[in-house]
Amino acid sequence: MSRRRLLVAVFLLGLVAAFFALDLGQYLRLEYFRSQQSAIEDFRRGNPLTASFIFLGIYVVVTSLSLPFAAVMSLAIGAVFGLLSGTLIVSFASSVGATLAFLSSRFLFREAVRNRFGGRLRAIDAGLEKEGAFYLFALRLVPAVPYIVVNLVMGVTPIRTWTFYWVGQIGMLPATIVYVNAGTQLATVKSLSGILSPTLIGSLVLIGIFPLIARHAVEVFKARRRLAKWPKPEKFERNLVVIGAGSAGLVAAYIAAAVKAKVTLIEKDRMGGDCLYTGCVPSKALIKSARLLAQAKRAREFGFKAMQVEFDFADVMERVQRVVRTVEPHDSAERYTRLGVECLQGEAKITSPWTVEVKAAGGARTLTTRAIVIAAGARPFVPPIPGLAETGYLTSDTVWNLRELPPRLVVLGGGPVGCELAQCFARFGSRVTQVEMLPRLLIREDPEVSELVARQFREERIDVRPEHKAVRVLRENGEKLLVCEHGGKEVRIPFDVLLCALGRVANTAGYGLEELGIGLTPARTVETDEFLQTLYPNIYACGDVAGPYQFTHTASHQAWYAAANALFGAVKRFRADYSVIPWATFTEPEVARVGLNETEAAEKNIAYDVTSYALEDLDRAIADGETQGVVKVLTVPGRDRILGATIVGEHAADLIVEFITAMKHGIGLNKILGTIHIYPTLAEANKYAAGNWKRAHAPQELLRWAEKFHAWRRG
Ligand SMILES: Cc1cc2nc3c(=O)[nH]c(=O)nc-3n(C[C@H](O)[C@H](O)[C@H](O)COP(=O)(O)OP(=O)(O)OC[C@H]3O[C@@H](n4cnc5c(N)ncnc54)[C@H](O)[C@@H]3O)c2cc1C
Repeated sequence: MSRRRLLVAVFLLGLVAAFFALDLGQYLRLEYFRSQQSAIEDFRRGNPLTASFIFLGIYVVVTSLSLPFAAVMSLAIGAVFGLLSGTLIVSFASSVGATLAFLSSRFLFREAVRNRFGGRLRAIDAGLEKEGAFYLFALRLVPAVPYIVVNLVMGVTPIRTWTFYWVGQIGMLPATIVYVNAGTQLATVKSLSGILSPTLIGSLVLIGIFPLIARHAVEVFKARRRLAKWPKPEKFERNLVVIGAGSAGLVAAYIAAAVKAKVTLIEKDRMGGDCLYTGCVPSKALIKSARLLAQAKRAREFGFKAMQVEFDFADVMERVQRVVRTVEPHDSAERYTRLGVECLQGEAKITSPWTVEVKAAGGARTLTTRAIVIAAGARPFVPPIPGLAETGYLTSDTVWNLRELPPRLVVLGGGPVGCELAQCFARFGSRVTQVEMLPRLLIREDPEVSELVARQFREERIDVRPEHKAVRVLRENGEKLLVCEHGGKEVRIPFDVLLCALGRVANTAGYGLEELGIGLTPARTVETDEFLQTLYPNIYACGDVAGPYQFTHTASHQAWYAAANALFGAVKRFRADYSVIPWATFTEPEVARVGLNETEAAEKNIAYDVTSYALEDLDRAIADGETQGVVKVLTVPGRDRILGATIVGEHAADLIVEFITAMKHGIGLNKILGTIHIYPTLAEANKYAAGNWKRAHAPQELLRWAEKFHAWRRG
């Protein structure tokens, strides 16, 4: 706790202690008011304004210190000032007092709570940001939840102070009136508990939850009105139509078939989508060949004189296609038909929330369906750089058609796809220049991680050009040139082939979204809520088209939620769970990540401890000659709970699974340290990282005592 916080805490505790030590509570009891009622009323008659302010002030002090006398004070004010003035005084005093208690709690505890629970509060924060006012209103109306507790708990949430104030004032009004009114009959009030009868509490609870029910009802009503614009078929031929048979669509259709729904999967191109034909599968196949070549170049390191690898680039690219063809049956129409999915080849268009038109070679037909899952994927982003279209370029869609190795390749983009492909082509022998507008490669990773990759790239003679902004492409004397802006100057980079790897944009046009009014996010993905539902209650989206992540594993993860909600949403809906999202970049060194890294933790203002373990110390890494890399773990300060992990090095994407599991199931570093890891493996690095954490957090005082104990035992 900071000094300022400590001072404020001591001051407030001192006030509370003084209150009890001086037994000031005796003046805030019902009996005391009753005994002094006529004297106080006399004073109020002579000095109405002063009396109001004195009571208001005492009320504010009592409630801001969270002293449990608000109910008695409300009764007393009712007795002295009557219903109207009493309600006014209590309403403002309780709201101001509550807000001061709320601000104290925020100042004293918020940071500590954030630090301790960090990521786990994200979902709660998001909910409060959206519906915080409704929840607060309900809590204020329901007197079953103590006023003091609401003030203190709300202080650690992100709700705005002004919202807290006005929602509280309105929400507390009914209970204020009840108490002040009871105070006007103070003589008949026997005890505080008698004021709120079960019927009265029941009514307040109903009023409290009414806004939430009303809001839900409004949403259902709006959704129905949206649907009502479209003629609804009498009967539906299908339970679900899935548009796009990539990673997301395949899983959505599979889930639907597994739960015996009638499902149709429509694909306009090839079943398997990007991952199979232009993404994960071909890129990993190419990486394997390039890696073999890179290993051969290190022959001397492993005790060989030399290792000559003769190859034809076209053969390597043919092998990539063989790999794709081998994986192809996993995603084929035959397999999915056997699983119970109707697979249609054709271009789908949503013509109403209940109908999808399929245009195929044989003509068009319209399918009726209860629900639709959009899984239309994304495509490479090509920026409007002058001259680029005229000069020609490749993307991750078309690079697989190359059969001749480009002598000079420019890779535009320093993200995962750009890095993976830049290294592959450099290893085959292209002179690669990698151009990145931002200060470093893999910008989402920590600077030292980017540097590990960049250093390896430079060693492999890749010309890495950070802070280079591509401004135009031109041809000069028969040579293709990329012109970049760098440090206020123009830099010209000659090339034979340019590969655009600048990210991917969701496919959102041409299949009915515009006509249905389904909106897009600022990132140009289909707008969905946390259930992956679009504007229509029966249309869902998942995968690259929905974002925010663009990985095969997140696409299939979302697909489960989209399919389950589309089919069973009327009974139960599931919020997509993004609490633990891992990813990897398959360069050498490989980079894998789950949860927070230092850069993100700093951006989000989340406190952390960081523990690293360098692979150069690991026996297996030394034996394999793969000592480049690190395991880096972020934990909650002083605790072993994992906030995130980054692994750089051989098989990082496999090794990180231990941290993914740990984060998902709340396992801390102590448990990882207490788990037997096989010797000698790379996975031991995780355990050693946990060991480093343990050493850094060893209980020093206890160890000093242990030392004394052993000295004593030695005699
Ligand atoms: C080079 C590269 C490497 C990658 N490597 C990895 C990796 O290692 N790991 C990883 O997790 N991710 C990787 N990715 C990302 C991964 O490929 C995507 O996240 C994933 O394929 C997205 O799946 P999807 O189902 O959302 O979309 P897609 O696979 O794009 O599928 C969408 C499908 O919808 C079809 N479609 C679109 N509109 C219509 C319509 N109107 N009617 C009918 N069909 C339609 C399309 O033809 C397409 O087949 C890589 C991507 C690239 C480009």
